[in-house]
Amino acid sequence: GGQRQRIGIARGLALNPEIIICDEPVSALDVSVQAQVVNLMEKLQDEFNLSYIFIAHDLSIVRHISDRVGVMYLGKMAEIGTDVQIYDHPTHPYTQALLSAVPVPDPDAREGRERIILTGDVPSPANPPSGCRFRTRCWKAEDKCAEEVPLLAVPEVFAGKKTPAAHESACHFAEEKQVVGAAS
Ligand code: SF4
Repeated sequence: GGQRQRIGIARGLALNPEIIICDEPVSALDVSVQAQVVNLMEKLQDEFNLSYIFIAHDLSIVRHISDRVGVMYLGKMAEIGTDVQIYDHPTHPYTQALLSAVPVPDPDAREGRERIILTGDVPSPANPPSGCRFRTRCWKAEDKCAEEVPLLAVPEVFAGKKTPAAHESACHFAEEKQVVGAAS
C-alpha cells in the first residue's frame, strides 16, 4: 500500500542526496496510492531541492512528474526532450507508437485517433539489429536504417527552426506526428 515506497524514499533522503533514481517506484500500487506517493515525491522535491531520475512505463505518470523525458528502446535512447516536446510533438516512430497505445477515457478524443500497432517481437538486447535497433518493427524503415546507426541529434529538417519538434531524436527520418489524446 505504498509503505515500502515511502520507506525507500526516507532511506534515500537520509543520505542527503542531490539526486534520487526511482526505478518503477509506483508500478505495483493501485491508482489512488500511486497519486499519494507521487504527491509526496513532489513535495519532497520542493523541500529538499531534489532531482529525480524517474524510470517508468506508465506514460501518464511520467508526464505528470517529469520536466524532461527520455524514451528508450532496447537499451538506447530513442528520443529526448521536454515533456511538451515528447508528448505533443513526438518525432521518433517508437515514441509515436507508444503514445498511440495510451488509453483515452474521453470518447470524443478517441474517435479521431490513429492507433499505431507494432508488429514483431522485441529483439534480444544481446544481439540487436544492425543500424537502427527499432528497424525490425518500424513501419518507416528503409535500407539506410539497416546500414547506419541513427545518432541522437536534432533532425536536420528542424535545424534553425523554432518549433517544439526540434529536439533530439535517433531516427534517420524523424518527423513530427501528433498523437491525439496522448497521456494528456
Ligand atoms: S531510423 Fe529508420 S528504422 Fe529507425 S526509427 Fe527511424 S525510420 Fe524507423
